Amino acid sequence: MSEYPDCRCNDFEKFLKILNLMLDNEASDDQEEFFNAHIEKCMVCFAHYNIEFQFRQLIKTKVNYKPIPEDLAQEIRLKITG
Ligand SMILES: [Zn+2]
Repeated sequence: MSEYPDCRCNDFEKFLKILNLMLDNEASDDQEEFFNAHIEKCMVCFAHYNIEFQFRQLIKTKVNYKPIPEDLAQEIRLKITG
């Protein structure tokens, strides 16, 4: 029995770590390979990647105009994750 029924990935923590490196363009070739292979077969991580990526793009766009308040960022995150 899992506490998180929608999150059954054994590699999720590793994936998260690499995802953050990827988004900062700091991942190694090996890590990128793992990442790409993994999101092809793991919907949990693929969905998470999409959320994280879109969220960062959104922040980047907003930051060009004015800093995004933390509570608004939180609100957007909740909206995306449902
Ligand atoms: Zn996964």
